[in-house]
Amino acid sequence: MKTLNDFNFENKKALIRVDFNVPLNEKFEVTDATRIVSAKPTIIKILEDGGSCILMSHLGRPKGFQDEFSLKHIAAKVSDILGVEVKFVTDCIGSKAEEAAANLQPGEVLLLENLRFYKEETAGDKDFAEKLSKLGDVYVNDAFGTAHRAHASTTIVAQFFEGKKCFGSLLAQEIESINKVMETGEKPVLAILGGAKVSSKITIIENILDKVDHLIIGGGMAFTFVKAQGGKIGNSICEDDKMGLALEILQHAKDKNVQVHIPIDTIAADDFSNDANTQIVDINAIPDGWEGVDAGPKSRAQFHDVVMQCKTILWNGPLGVFEMENFAQGTIELGNSIAEATKNGAFSLVGGGDSVAAVKQFGFENKVSYVSTGGGAMLESLEGKTLPGIAAILE
Ligand code: AMP
Repeated sequence: MKTLNDFNFENKKALIRVDFNVPLNEKFEVTDATRIVSAKPTIIKILEDGGSCILMSHLGRPKGFQDEFSLKHIAAKVSDILGVEVKFVTDCIGSKAEEAAANLQPGEVLLLENLRFYKEETAGDKDFAEKLSKLGDVYVNDAFGTAHRAHASTTIVAQFFEGKKCFGSLLAQEIESINKVMETGEKPVLAILGGAKVSSKITIIENILDKVDHLIIGGGMAFTFVKAQGGKIGNSICEDDKMGLALEILQHAKDKNVQVHIPIDTIAADDFSNDANTQIVDINAIPDGWEGVDAGPKSRAQFHDVVMQCKTILWNGPLGVFEMENFAQGTIELGNSIAEATKNGAFSLVGGGDSVAAVKQFGFENKVSYVSTGGGAMLESLEGKTLPGIAAILE
């Protein structure tokens, strides 16, 4: 796996795919700069080597050239974060971009205009990728969030940099973290899958059964498993057409010696609202008109015990409707357990969508080993897929 450390960037122009798809407010100010901050180590390493950086990214989903999606809005913020002046060029290919890249001196940073102003970017167009490739000497991919897309700047462009391409430090960290869970993790390995639907996690569950010793199935998706086994789940969220599959998964887990932990009890609410009346009930005896919205106290204690036994922990998906304050406790306690296990030496990876939001919201970000920056890319990695952006560097 080629990383930044395999290259000396002195007098080299690095063409870096970053993920600067950041949220902006109505005044075009960056409201969450996490993605820019995450790319900083890669950029600084190249500058310190004596190289220069040509940054390329998309922003939003523009239809052609649309000023509101211009990356010019974020250039000043990138400068602030890097502590280096960032030059901006109003195109990402063609004579203007080529001239700006050619004039770039060691220690300087150039930000290209939004790649997605050209439909060729998402189409993975080879000619467009070749035009991008003219701008730099070495290609660095540091955009995990788009690594599952075979776009021109994330994948196709790598063809033009044989022997001169590598992962940036963010992407390398993502790959290492996933490998630590899926390939080299110290046993016992635990995966915690929560969230709303079984259907969106089936491929992950099937793939992960070969990798883990324990599997916690929580959140809304647990009810499909409970009902499939004959439990009464009241109005709880359930995918009836996936009940057969749920039973098959339980059988596969048994065959593979994976211990599956499903909640024992639940906080049941009489309405899907924060102010609903609630009661604690056994998960398989939820009264009609009530629905399970969070893990109950016995389940939380059970999950705590499992988490504390494990040396490698993957967490994807909340244990309840954490967006509502009164139904967030199960997710918060799980976060606390994972933080404690991490402190005791376990490796913990949080990834994919809402669990990342929960971890940030409840302040666990620095108490787990790694929080992934990619939603879809993380989920596809857990499904066992080789991401095109990663494969293109390895080729
Ligand atoms: P996912 O995107 O599949 O990870 O699902 C995340 C969503 O699952 C969050 O918006 C949670 O509110 C929701 N969720 C978790 N537990 C439940 C539950 N018991 N009933 C309904 N929705 C739930």
